[in-house]
Amino acid sequence: MKNILKISYKTILLLGGVVLGMQACSDDDDSSNRQSVVEDIKLDLSQFQKEDSGVMMQAFYWDVEPRFAWYDEVSTKIEDWSASGINRIWLPAPGKGASGGFSMGYDPSDYFDVGEFDQHGTVETRFGSRVELENLIQKSHDNNIEVIADIVMGHNSGGGLQDNPFRPGDTEVFSLFNEENGNASGKFNRSYEHFHPNNIHANDEQALFFEKTDLCHDQQYVQDWLWGRDDSVAEFYKNTLGFDGWRFDYVKSFDPKWITAWNDKVGGFSVGENFDGNEQVLKDWVDASGSPAFDFACFYRLDETLDRAKDLTALGNAGNMLRKLDPSNAVTFTANHDTEKDENPDNRISYANKLLAYSYILTHDGYPTIFYLDYENESFKEPLKRLITIYNTIATGDIEVIEANEDEYIMKRSGDADNPGLILYMNISNQTKQYNVNSNWVDKTLVDYTDNSAATPTTDTNGNVIIQAPGRSFSVWSIAKE
Ligand code: ZN
Ligand code: ZN
Repeated sequence: MKNILKISYKTILLLGGVVLGMQACSDDDDSSNRQSVVEDIKLDLSQFQKEDSGVMMQAFYWDVEPRFAWYDEVSTKIEDWSASGINRIWLPAPGKGASGGFSMGYDPSDYFDVGEFDQHGTVETRFGSRVELENLIQKSHDNNIEVIADIVMGHNSGGGLQDNPFRPGDTEVFSLFNEENGNASGKFNRSYEHFHPNNIHANDEQALFFEKTDLCHDQQYVQDWLWGRDDSVAEFYKNTLGFDGWRFDYVKSFDPKWITAWNDKVGGFSVGENFDGNEQVLKDWVDASGSPAFDFACFYRLDETLDRAKDLTALGNAGNMLRKLDPSNAVTFTANHDTEKDENPDNRISYANKLLAYSYILTHDGYPTIFYLDYENESFKEPLKRLITIYNTIATGDIEVIEANEDEYIMKRSGDADNPGLILYMNISNQTKQYNVNSNWVDKTLVDYTDNSAATPTTDTNGNVIIQAPGRSFSVWSIAKE
């Protein structure tokens, strides 16, 4: 009861409005009046821009359309993404794949054919021509956006048939890559000895898919062509095409020391796809490779809490994500090209909970990734822009979980001397909820910078304040104008 007494009269009126379903009635006069009041007292958050601000865009989805024009399509988005606070885009694997104009890049045949040689039925890759790729990279750089390439170096596809003496009796080994067989560039020609098994060993301990054309990175020749030589794949992508960094595909299929070797040679931003929901597996890989990793543990905890258990308690548990163990090496996400086409709902975050998941990754530490189809979804775009702005400005300082229960998750970031920080309130119940929190702010009016709540509560002399979040929604609170 003591808490209730601290709510201002204004707040009580506003709470009443929310309970009556104000969020759903945008044509309601009172509602739009309140919304404009909120708009008038919001601070311009750009004054709090963090030094390390920026969010990554995964700039493709599975089977992107239109084919042969994807680079040009992405080019039309660059100014808008840059203005929204995107500082890096992740493009598909640029080389020619075995399935030619249908390839999404994960069946690499010729690493040096980025859309200029006639093979596998096409000159351009599914994404366009080499010139279109170079134009996109240039336009991104002109808009202060880095471009990272998807690097698929575990296996190859699309070579010619060859006898492999290390596979006696097996006449179905497509391990010959040369000018006539899937490698028109003539660079990094390959033969059976560059795949497993070979004269060095039978496998590299992680024989998974693509068993017959699983590249052997212990072969000096393979190392030289992938990253070692001055005209290696890595050097060509970095120095000739202009890529700034790397997203390493399926790193479970080879030793993490090869990631270290690649990055030591050419540098740049790096993130590994270690497809594993166990945070310690991810942490061990980060320690072994020296590279950040996608935080699959965070992704699965969000799916488990939001979609499956419908209970947010576990979000407050210690240590159950890479970002809780090693935030500076955690690249967080809520969807990617694999999860979005997965038919098992346990492997993707539902549409209904997607923005709640984004509210989590865009207020905590870790480096967040936005999925193309989410941002370009008209009903998500404006809410995502507001969250990206929040991430790039006031999502800073120590993290304190204030509450984590079945329906609610409330987290405070301390900010610093020049930055007010924030309070995130996630609510998965069907009703508006409110909670008495102890904030960092004394005698301040607060506003929700996500625009989901129109309340304007005031903190007392001890920093206490009652904040709220609408049902199945979230709010992010910070100080308003004086
Ligand atoms: Zn090997
Ligand atoms: Zn799910």
